[in-house]
Amino acid sequence: MGNRLYRSAKLRMATLRALVTGGAGFVGSHLCDRLLAEGYSVVAADNLLTGRLSNLAHLRNEPRFEFLQQDVCQPFDPGKFDFVFHFASPASPVDYAKHGIETLQVGSLGTFNTLEVARRSQAVFLLASTSECYGDPLEHPQKETYWGHVNPIGPRSVYDEAKRFAEAATMAYRRYHNVNTRIVRIFNTYGSRMQINDGRVIPNFMRQALRGEDLTVYGAGDQTRSFCYVSDEVEGILRLSRSEEPLPVNIGNPCEFTILECAQEILDVTGSRSKICYEPLPKDDPKQRKPDITKAKTLLGWEPRIELQQGLKMSLEYFRGEVAALDANLTSPQRD
Ligand code: NAD
Repeated sequence: MGNRLYRSAKLRMATLRALVTGGAGFVGSHLCDRLLAEGYSVVAADNLLTGRLSNLAHLRNEPRFEFLQQDVCQPFDPGKFDFVFHFASPASPVDYAKHGIETLQVGSLGTFNTLEVARRSQAVFLLASTSECYGDPLEHPQKETYWGHVNPIGPRSVYDEAKRFAEAATMAYRRYHNVNTRIVRIFNTYGSRMQINDGRVIPNFMRQALRGEDLTVYGAGDQTRSFCYVSDEVEGILRLSRSEEPLPVNIGNPCEFTILECAQEILDVTGSRSKICYEPLPKDDPKQRKPDITKAKTLLGWEPRIELQQGLKMSLEYFRGEVAALDANLTSPQRD
């Protein structure tokens, strides 16, 4: 009897179907891997605006995986799902500065369309939100109950306000349409499959250190960030999707580093002799960011396990490869 129960539970697991929008991106592709490893069948929907098919190339022969090239700002009907993970959105400062309108659209139209998929399927819907919802926070560390300090018209507003709107839309679909929703507020995450030129702290420093260039620190470098390794992040996201929590949950690493300390860690891990140079702070750059993860700890039994130095070591080969590819492209003869 026990055995039969176990087998039927396994069978049920094997048939769970998940949609991951933004599945060709950095976090989305790692989430696809993890869901497949857990026995789900997975559809990744992505318009490849900032993601890459190479992030999913290893899944080419996986029968439980399907890639759907789709702009989620257009209504779409990819079938029935048990879980819908909405990760589509430019996420790095370079990307959302370049694609400001698209960022607002995917946070609004894209969120509505993806919520509709979840509603039709009666699926659990999980929104990838962000610590940017807290803006340049006046509360430190940031708890989920903090409403934030966001400039609604500054250059970062295309991203911050898109995500705040996406959270509001998600809560509205729960209240008005009974959709079973979750909201994760992701803090800085890093690891393989990040774009080497995406302007985020770790790929920037890695690229500069591996090429022997100066590491660019904005301001005095005393602003703080906390960095979560991608496998820890995905574990937290998966646990949240399986919980019953409707309100936002911070998933991030509370170990706080100044930007200067982070630069030093990267110099240590790469063995680079690069120096540090200083440039003026960009507008609205948050001075400090650190998640309060008490809620994730108590509710999900989750906390990050990988320390910064370990995570940087685990990502080093990937970044080396990206830098080599970048340099090969830069030095290859121009074709006309
Ligand atoms: P990413 O740019 O690597 O991935 C985003 C993916 O969304 C890309 O593959 C892109 O092509 C796709 N996309 C964008 N617009 C789309 C559209 N209209 N239709 C379909 N696909 C579209 O970024 P990421 O770092 O993997 O971030 C994934 C999610 O996590 C984002 O929603 C982001 O806001 C959130 N997040 C990430 C971090 C982080 O540190 N990486 C922090 C906070 C929040």
